Amino acid sequence: AAGTKDGKITMKRYITANETPKTIQSVLQRPSQRSNEKIVGICHPIIEAVKTRGDAAVLEYTHKFDKATSLKSPVLRAPFPESMMQLAPDTIKAIDISFENIRKFHAAQIDKPLVVETMPGVVCSRFSRPIERVGLYVPGGTAVLPSTALMLGVPAMVAGCKKIVLASPPRPDGSITPEIVYVAHKVGAEAIVLAGGAQAVAALAYGTESITKVDKILGPGNQFVTAAKMIVSNDTNAGVSIDMPAGPSEVLVVADATANPVFVASDLLSQAEHGVDSQVILIAVGLNEAQLAAIEDELHNQAMALPRVDIVRGSIEHSITLVVDTIEEAMRLSNAYAPEHLILQVREAERVVELVENAGSVFVGPWTPESVGDYSAGVNHSLPTFGYAKQYSGVNLGSYLKHITSSNLTQEGLRNVGAAVMELARVEELEAHRRAVSLRLGVP
Ligand code: NAD
Repeated sequence: AAGTKDGKITMKRYITANETPKTIQSVLQRPSQRSNEKIVGICHPIIEAVKTRGDAAVLEYTHKFDKATSLKSPVLRAPFPESMMQLAPDTIKAIDISFENIRKFHAAQIDKPLVVETMPGVVCSRFSRPIERVGLYVPGGTAVLPSTALMLGVPAMVAGCKKIVLASPPRPDGSITPEIVYVAHKVGAEAIVLAGGAQAVAALAYGTESITKVDKILGPGNQFVTAAKMIVSNDTNAGVSIDMPAGPSEVLVVADATANPVFVASDLLSQAEHGVDSQVILIAVGLNEAQLAAIEDELHNQAMALPRVDIVRGSIEHSITLVVDTIEEAMRLSNAYAPEHLILQVREAERVVELVENAGSVFVGPWTPESVGDYSAGVNHSLPTFGYAKQYSGVNLGSYLKHITSSNLTQEGLRNVGAAVMELARVEELEAHRRAVSLRLGVP
């Protein structure tokens, strides 16, 4: 019953009580990815070419992949001309409101320096400093994504990164979406690299004649972007880190009898329209046949009215409904799946948040569609996919900072802790370590 049954767009339904745990585990697998080896094989020569031939190679690939054959320079430098950010007043207003909410939420994440006296005279502290140069990848192949420029650029600005460089594939005429130029201007970016894919990632990682080498690359993208980020971050000579591995976007909605079928279906579809590789999961808690049918009918009817209905058909093909009896079981399954986005349309949704162990970002209650987090509420939308929410956080202020520790001892402090240090140094047979203490304390 998956995909389009008799033309109906519907998700395959499983009643967990009738299935083995193994079946449920297997239906919760992510759709498999295209062979990573093949993608890596395509990216390696591109990265090498940019490393050795710099700007010329970047331009060649941009001419080839993005068809921007008239482009003469791979970089656009600040100050960006007004003519490149001409926008409708409503668009400017929407960007400005979103910018301000994202700024507020990320500014609140600034942590005060920690100072702890672990023993009398032994003071340990921790403070943060911004990563100096960051490269922010804004995908542009198939969609216009100024929201991603906001989600990556605003925290970089708040963190105080000295050099912010955006990269995004240009349009065939060589231009860049004015919304992205406007955001780059607002966050104080020094340049926009007019390139996409592995060539953009390589240019950011190694630098070219005209492109600044960065210390960290952040941002989502297709499989070429992701593979290139993994390759450069594994190159110890590149000296560059990345935010997180990325995969196709996903949502898990938990709904009970209090949920409005119209809202539930609209949330499922807002994820399903991203791409055919998106995954959408509904966990229905204690819903009867009529209630399930109400959501399924809504899903079909709303989908049919969408401009991207063909993409929806593709993603719904590998999307499922799990029918469970209790909210505890729903949350156990959700935590095992570790969704990028988790939507809770259940009674006492705020209390259910306490049961969340693994998720990129949570949307609580009937009035919180994922879309608000995607754009304007203030939370970040660059989130761990593919189950990585088990070990990674989404992009946040900390993604742009290094935490540095320091210790500062008095003579008394060294006396207090010295014996322990000397004993451990003796056990590890590191005599010079031991003497650095014993000579100061004048002991044997
Ligand atoms: P993109 O900018 O990621 O990739 C475009 C680039 O891909 C091109 O410039 C080109 O260099 C490269 N490329 C394309 N075909 C190639 C080939 N055959 N060989 C070598 N390189 C090639 O744009 P896109 O392709 O539209 O993908 C956008 C991706 O970003 C989607 O997968 C989408 O799901 C994802 N995305 C994720 C989030 C998120 O927050 N998780 C947000 C927005 C977008």
